Amino acid sequence: MAAVPPKTKWCTVCMRAVPLGKGGLANFTQNHEKSGEHTRKLADQARTGLKPNALTNFFAPRPRPSAQSTSSAPVPSPSSAGSHPPPQDTPMPASTPSIAEEDAASPMDVDSGDSSSAAESEPLFLATLRTAVATLPQGVPMASSEDVLAVFAADPATRMVPDGDAWEDFIHGDFQRLLWGESGPRETIELSTLMRRGSLGLDGLVKYIKKCITHLSVPAAVFEPRIERVISALELLGSSTSAVPPSPQRTFVDLTQINSPPMPPKALTGCPGQALPLERGENAFTAYPIGLHAKKKLPWTPEFHDGLSVRADNCLRSAQASGVCAPCRRLLGNGLIKGILERNHFGTRPSTPYAFLTPAQSSALLDKKNAIIDGLRLSGLNMGRKLLTRMRHLEGHKRMLLAVSQNNIPRLQSIVRNCLKRGDSIFAITEKIGNAIRGTFHDRSYSKIAYQQAYVLLQLGGAAALELGHRCLGLPSLDATKRHIVPKPLCASPRFPQLEEMRQNLAVCYPNSPNPGPDSNISPIGPGFQLCIDEIKIQEMMRWNPVTDMIHGICREHGAPYGSRLIITS
Ligand SMILES: [Zn+2]
Ligand SMILES: [Zn+2]
Ligand SMILES: [Zn+2]
Repeated sequence: MAAVPPKTKWCTVCMRAVPLGKGGLANFTQNHEKSGEHTRKLADQARTGLKPNALTNFFAPRPRPSAQSTSSAPVPSPSSAGSHPPPQDTPMPASTPSIAEEDAASPMDVDSGDSSSAAESEPLFLATLRTAVATLPQGVPMASSEDVLAVFAADPATRMVPDGDAWEDFIHGDFQRLLWGESGPRETIELSTLMRRGSLGLDGLVKYIKKCITHLSVPAAVFEPRIERVISALELLGSSTSAVPPSPQRTFVDLTQINSPPMPPKALTGCPGQALPLERGENAFTAYPIGLHAKKKLPWTPEFHDGLSVRADNCLRSAQASGVCAPCRRLLGNGLIKGILERNHFGTRPSTPYAFLTPAQSSALLDKKNAIIDGLRLSGLNMGRKLLTRMRHLEGHKRMLLAVSQNNIPRLQSIVRNCLKRGDSIFAITEKIGNAIRGTFHDRSYSKIAYQQAYVLLQLGGAAALELGHRCLGLPSLDATKRHIVPKPLCASPRFPQLEEMRQNLAVCYPNSPNPGPDSNISPIGPGFQLCIDEIKIQEMMRWNPVTDMIHGICREHGAPYGSRLIITS
């Protein structure tokens, strides 16, 4: 087909290039679109629901000086698809232009003179919508004139009234009827039931928006939120907004896709299963007690993909359903599922059966048990060592008892007392006792009583007796006794005791008391002494006490028969 000369615009209704003349685009909208030929063909189209040759137009590539598409579909390289369109009878290059791109740069609705700028300025949401429409599954029915979408098939420019506002006049109302039901905005599911293919359906909608933006100068931003809802409805039906599978209508063979068959459109539109909430940082694989299925017959199956979900055995996997189906949702009320979630959140009890534990909980339990076992092993080891030490000490005590019972150990008490004072162990005491038995150790720390005993032995039996005591009883030797005890004999008074004798005897008896001498400045009275004396007789004569009128000086033994009272007889 020959290239459309510049300064013309392709009319999609009349299927011919309309010369624009000097009036430009306004000439087209104001003169041609109101012409009898155009309105008649538009009415025919609305009646039949089909454009005259929409399908065959597909294979009519137009020269595009710099064809660009904002869609993410593969684009032919500018050198091959730009100034030199491929001939009709040769196969297309490996990367074929997508339907979306064909539509975007189609000569049906875009002025070829400024097609590149129009394609470049196409908003992203419109390109996404094109892709979604192009990838719509074949199961979606074709549109008829009764459908809600059919209103978009008509050219909006023909409905434009002079000096009117296109948005307020009809565009807003058209979208309102599509997106709003009787009771408010339509849900995505409800909207997806209204989606139809064909020129009376979504294809018409794409062109409608395109025309509104390019010809009627309606801001693209007002369409965006509305079109996004349509796109989500299309996604629900299985459309893809990113990848464009090859269209079955194409006759070209894509050599790169012969070996790898095209992926089917997104089919996961059925029930995704009831998702179970995971705790923070928890892994889905370790958060489900998979072993429970071995113990019990459970009416669901766990699924581990992005998260953790359960699918009921009677799940309605229908592709028409959207969201979680009722049987799957009811699983959240199941006691076992509730228990799993509770244990994930609050932890397990010690009595929880092992089958109910998730792998993470089982690992935690094993860690805890390992810690307990390690502690018990350690305390057992310590206890063994402690008992061994105690046993050795008991052995030492037995040895000491044996040594004491079989030998006469001189000064045993002194040896043990001194050892205990030093904090010696039973082994050191036993060794010392052994040395004492062998005679290689002598305890020299005698007490004062031992010296006194030795002195008494010396006085009574002489040096020989003391030597015997020293050898057999462990008493101090003769020299040690003499060094420690210096005898100071009392001075006997042959007559009435003199002061000097008394003073000397007192000094002997109380060696540490201050002894005031004649030239002493200590008080003559001095610190007093207490003497415990039963009877003391200073002179052997009787005396009369005039106060009691009695005679004293006779001992009780001899004076008793006479009485003590003086009886004067004259
Ligand atoms: Zn389900
Ligand atoms: Zn007497
Ligand atoms: Zn007498």
